[in-house]
Amino acid sequence: MTDSQPQPAALPAGALIISAATTGSWPTKAQNPNVPTTPEEIAQAAIACGEAGAAIVHIHVRDDDEKVTCDPERYARVRELVEAAGSDVIINMSTGGGAGTSSDEERMAPVALAPEIASFDCGSVNFGERVFVNSPAFLRELAARMNAHDVKPEIECFEPGHVWNALRLIDEGLLRPPFWFQFVLGVRGGSPPEVKQLLNMVEMLPAGAHWSVCGIGRAQLPLGMAAMAMGGHVRTGLEDNIWYHKGQLAESNAQLVARIARIAGEMGRPLATPDQVRALLGLHGAPAASAAATTA
Ligand code: ZN
Repeated sequence: MTDSQPQPAALPAGALIISAATTGSWPTKAQNPNVPTTPEEIAQAAIACGEAGAAIVHIHVRDDDEKVTCDPERYARVRELVEAAGSDVIINMSTGGGAGTSSDEERMAPVALAPEIASFDCGSVNFGERVFVNSPAFLRELAARMNAHDVKPEIECFEPGHVWNALRLIDEGLLRPPFWFQFVLGVRGGSPPEVKQLLNMVEMLPAGAHWSVCGIGRAQLPLGMAAMAMGGHVRTGLEDNIWYHKGQLAESNAQLVARIARIAGEMGRPLATPDQVRALLGLHGAPAASAAATTA
């Protein structure tokens, strides 16, 4: 190996991929004033999370009234601001919309922006008092569009049936390796946030799949620690949990990322960098990052 020949970064043994979910479709500033909701605030949170140790930032965007929107212009604006600041954090755009309040076509709009990763909610589920519909026809269309734009699906599974749906789409060739799964545990209607549920879902995965966990609310930290102990990866952030401790609101997304990074250090798990994750998952690379790589 020579210095003039840069090698693709490999994931070091035991490396931990931290994802930060900054905003979501639900939390408001009334619940926690630190929830970022404007494109500027979301971009700033994404940059800070990258600095705190997150390799991936999962974003939703909101309109001027803080309501969730799938507006591609707002998504593009966030990415533009993050890249302009020189951050190389990977951006994962949500295709979840308002979890039951957006049309299928609206939800797929961000895919045309060719984000490196986009969420892929792999089945229908009751979501609190709403119903989050992800029909087989929608999932096939979403997968086809992601493939056409070279977008890596983050296969979100809220319960074991969603993993089974993914296996079917893999058999059909619509989901392609390397696979990146996100287990979302603790949504009312999906799997309860318990380690035994996580174990069951992990055991259903195809060989070589990479996986991460997000626990909702008070389950965020314990399930993250379980995932770290099991060799999986962790998602944190205000989308899933607005608290730092019981009764104490989180100050920022970066504060939650820093906590996971600190515990990972204690557990002997180095943090994966964005470029290591790009190599691992075969991501196409952010435009700014690719330009930097070819001129370096
Ligand atoms: Zn989300």
